[in-house]
Amino acid sequence: MAKTDLEIAQECVLEPIETVAAKVDIPNDALEHYGKYKAKLAFDLIKELEKNKEGKLILVTAINPTKAGEGKSTTTVGLGDALNRIGKKTMMALREPSLGPVFGLKGGAAGGGYAQVVPMEDINLHFTGDMHAITTCNNLVSAILDNHIYQGNALNIDPASITFKRCLDMNERELRQIDIGLGAKVNGVKREDGFNITVASEIMASLCLASDLMDLKERFGKILVAYTYDQKPVFVRDLGIEGAMAMVMKDAILPNLVQTLEHNPVLIHGGPFANIAHGCNSVIATKTALRLADYVVTEAGFGADLGAEKFLDIKCRLADLHPNAVVIVATIRALKQHGGVAYEDLKEENVEAMLKGCENLAKHIDTIQQFGLPYIVAINEFVSDTPEEVKALQEWCQANGHPMALSQVWAKGGEGAIDLANQVVQLCEQENDFAPLYDVNDSIESKIESIARKVYGAKGVEFTPEAKEQIERFNELGWNDLPICMAKTQMSLSDDGKVMGRPTDFTITVRELRPSLGAGFIVALTGKVLTMPGLPKHPSALDMDIDANGKITGLF
Ligand code: ADP
Repeated sequence: MAKTDLEIAQECVLEPIETVAAKVDIPNDALEHYGKYKAKLAFDLIKELEKNKEGKLILVTAINPTKAGEGKSTTTVGLGDALNRIGKKTMMALREPSLGPVFGLKGGAAGGGYAQVVPMEDINLHFTGDMHAITTCNNLVSAILDNHIYQGNALNIDPASITFKRCLDMNERELRQIDIGLGAKVNGVKREDGFNITVASEIMASLCLASDLMDLKERFGKILVAYTYDQKPVFVRDLGIEGAMAMVMKDAILPNLVQTLEHNPVLIHGGPFANIAHGCNSVIATKTALRLADYVVTEAGFGADLGAEKFLDIKCRLADLHPNAVVIVATIRALKQHGGVAYEDLKEENVEAMLKGCENLAKHIDTIQQFGLPYIVAINEFVSDTPEEVKALQEWCQANGHPMALSQVWAKGGEGAIDLANQVVQLCEQENDFAPLYDVNDSIESKIESIARKVYGAKGVEFTPEAKEQIERFNELGWNDLPICMAKTQMSLSDDGKVMGRPTDFTITVRELRPSLGAGFIVALTGKVLTMPGLPKHPSALDMDIDANGKITGLF
């Protein structure tokens, strides 16, 4: 039987973190140690690096995710190891896992098989405490806000209009909508509230887009928390707590250094949701890695319609990043599912369905082409793939002129992606004319339409009366020159999660807009987007344990 991700990770003899750091010339005194195998990079080093030339940036994205799994993190880690194997000084920049999915259904996010980041247990559990800091920072706002109202409400805040929610890094559907301040008057003002999962909070999104601590403080000040009784917006800066919030984040803003199973350096920092937020690790981590290494491999959440679009339209625009190549991950299993095969039947060979499912891959390739970027398709090989299926997919790529490589990093580590790495290096040598897909100065409607038409392949966008009213209001308030963060199901190119493949002749319905002024984007919600997930009937936590020697089982 194949070893589990955890068993493989536990077999790894880790190198001391200073040895890993030395590979990209990070001096020992620039490390703030969290035990032997984790360190934060010191603020002075990050500042000092600003004068360095930046390396090449490679984005890993994927087709629309299915229950069958794609393996973006696995490919990111394996490709980074492969680039190091062919002599390229490479770092990876990844998102930090959230405990909600770890205890729930999806598991952690440190890669898989022989392409993993370690210490896997720590990364998936409390790591260096960043999630705790973000949660505290968020809940400080709620505590101060409610106290302000209780202490006389000098700002004239309408409690029914509060938009800012509390947060917790846990899946707990019971906290989505709650009553607070119940009981005696001394217990505060009674009102309805709710919790987001920490990774869906605007604090997380702001951290990930900030250039440094002072920029983060300014972003915090801009966060909208409520409206007054006469409909005026109230911001964090009106409460006067952006300074205390930034203070709480003084260590969380520093990127975390760890290693792959092959002892190559990885920065893991920040992990915003890819639906309500932009779904990629922090700008600070990406930029720091680019100044330390010649190649940086990073990933964006979900499929190219969500994560990559936001990476390219939001993060790259705000941080002035210029990617050099995009890797689009697909699996034969997921392509078959997009071609109509039920999850239970994925083990059966089905070349026809797989080729039909390639239409989903084709749309994502089209999107990356529209951004003007060189790309390669990486087929993440599963043991269930048959030679006929692999051959047919290779032929499809060849016939359509798409560069492609088979990736066996899950089974072999970096050695399984040498071909992919060589091809990626070549792509990075090409000049490209990368540009975001829309102009931020276009109207809110036009920006959303650009994304829906160009990226989803929709024929248009419908705005509900509520959304139209909000757009009018945002225009009046001057919130119309920000990029758009689409909140859409990740399962489909459309806004209906059940529609697989490449739908045509559909419209996208925008139901609501939410200003994330601290993060610096407007969220457009299509359909119901949960910002606090629930647990499944059999949460993964039930299968987890630790013994007297500290050996953990059941994490994945
Ligand atoms: P994503 O980043 O797309 O969400 P991950 O890289 O986290 O996906 O992988 C999800 C899960 O799938 C992990 O548990 C990983 O071990 C598993 N996985 C990835 N690639 C393969 C593969 N080629 N064969 C078997 N399992 C795989």
